[in-house]
Amino acid sequence: MTFGDLELHPLSDGTFRLDGGAMFGVVPKPLWERRAPADERNRIRMGLRPLLVRGERTLLIDAGIGDKMDEKSVEIYGIDRSHHLDHDLAALGLTRGDIDIVLASHLHFDHAGGFTVRADVPGGLAPAFPNATYIVRTAEWDDAMHPHERNRASYLAENFAPLAAAGCLRLMDGDGPIMPGVRVVRTGGHTMHHQMVVIESGGRTAVFTADLMPSAAHVDVPWIMGYDLYPMDTLAFKRGFVRDAIDRGYLVFFEHDPDIAAGYIRDENGRKRVEPRLEP
Ligand SMILES: [Zn+2]
Repeated sequence: MTFGDLELHPLSDGTFRLDGGAMFGVVPKPLWERRAPADERNRIRMGLRPLLVRGERTLLIDAGIGDKMDEKSVEIYGIDRSHHLDHDLAALGLTRGDIDIVLASHLHFDHAGGFTVRADVPGGLAPAFPNATYIVRTAEWDDAMHPHERNRASYLAENFAPLAAAGCLRLMDGDGPIMPGVRVVRTGGHTMHHQMVVIESGGRTAVFTADLMPSAAHVDVPWIMGYDLYPMDTLAFKRGFVRDAIDRGYLVFFEHDPDIAAGYIRDENGRKRVEPRLEP
């Protein structure tokens, strides 16, 4: 879709499954399963939707789960990549070599898995986007490189450590512009330095919320993931964000929604809902 001077293309790296209880935190199952039906293992289906932004440069926000997961993880997470990122790039006439910038919301495996690929090089891993500069928030990088017991399963060094060795990593401190019309804003909450991406062009605003609001089912402010390390920070940020998104008509991108890539948040007598814009 055209968005001011930019083009925005939600892509797909397939789907995966996570525990429904963990995805909705303190919300009881009878409430969340109406929005996200669980399978026999209590898992819900989730999308993997990096966003391609074409403007002065060709920018990819997050890169899906990638193809390095072992058989056991593929089974546990129900990963289905029968249709993946390369297919969607090809549909736009692009290859991985055409991406100039890869921007990370944070470094969890379902966002950064596609950053690297297995290759016949020392160490066995190479950047998946050979001509790209990878931009990562400095403090998120530091946390990912020094995981603790609670986040170790999400930060897999194979997804990001090779970028530093390959010389294509650019660490960025704080909030600020990535290219004309695109800037990052720290949300915290999910991880201490998780960031969203704000896209402004032609007088309109779109926001790639990443794990601040992973799906349209998370549009209610207290519907916060059990995975979040700092849920009260998520709550505080999200409360303000949802208000702004409604009042200012932001186009919101949902990275993990299985069906709705993007939409507008509407408030109907206190009930929040998403009016879908870009179907898969
Ligand atoms: Zn995620």
